[in-house]
Amino acid sequence: SIPLGFFGGIGGASRNGILVKGGNYLEALNSVDTVVFDKTGTLTKGVFNVTEIITTGSMTKDELLEFAAYAESYSNHPIAISILKAYNGEVNKNNIENYDEISGHGTKVTVNGKEILAGNSKLMIKEGIEFEQIEATGTIVHIAIDKQYAGYIVIADEIKEDSIEAIRSLKDVGVRKTVMLTGDIKKVGEKVAKQLGLDEVYAELLPDQKVEKLEMLDNNKPPKKKLVFVGDGINDAPVLARADIGIAMGGLGSDAAIEAADVVIMTDEPSKIATAIKIAKRTRRIVW
Ligand code: ADP
Ligand code: MG
Repeated sequence: SIPLGFFGGIGGASRNGILVKGGNYLEALNSVDTVVFDKTGTLTKGVFNVTEIITTGSMTKDELLEFAAYAESYSNHPIAISILKAYNGEVNKNNIENYDEISGHGTKVTVNGKEILAGNSKLMIKEGIEFEQIEATGTIVHIAIDKQYAGYIVIADEIKEDSIEAIRSLKDVGVRKTVMLTGDIKKVGEKVAKQLGLDEVYAELLPDQKVEKLEMLDNNKPPKKKLVFVGDGINDAPVLARADIGIAMGGLGSDAAIEAADVVIMTDEPSKIATAIKIAKRTRRIVW
């Protein structure tokens, strides 16, 4: 049977906007060794702004942005949302014949018989597009039309103000290691990790590779200690499910994430993870 004190702990957590799906997870939060974060939407706002549009052919910047908006029109990825916001025009979905979102890569659509690709260099390579690798501190979305490279859009995300405190406070509650996993490029990943004081960062990961890295980190933790993964669920539901404790950010997060998670942070504040650990420790003192 579940000791009564756990109900108090779960109630206390919920008053702090933290939904814990059972006393066993509250108990597990006492022994956290490693906290692994997704980047986009979890430690960063996931609200990107278009900072540059570069065309390589005869197309204008506005035309390139319009093609990108069509390509992204069915996606709910933060990148897609920012492109649609920058475009600020109408997308006639009747003109879209095929739509395909390739997880960790980007999107592929057919509009009025033209094939549009919008995504990262992995997508360009996969589709056999000739293009040049670009150096930028933002996230780059390459665009190709009918297999011809057409240009790229640079978008920049910002860290959440709360994220710095979130990482620092984890150390205060006894977490040994903080890690970030991201599908974004190394340059962006390393910049964010440095700003936040994370111990480790692994970038350019596909969703499957995130699961592999998580397993590696899980195997490296001390016996009986727990590993937490924190994500927004866009592309990372399998990682959430694989962690000892999967924590979803409920604010931006998808329904799939809330379903797959053991703990849901109802606000968008990653600092609530340290709060949850504190509540777990206090609950344990009351129960035992
Ligand atoms: P993160 O690990 O930062 O949350 P994701 O796994 O969601 O990132 O995506 C990894 C990368 O895949 C992105 O940085 C982007 O380059 C590309 N990508 C994913 N979805 C899209 C999309 N809808 N449009 C353009 N690029 C995308
Ligand atoms: Mg993500």
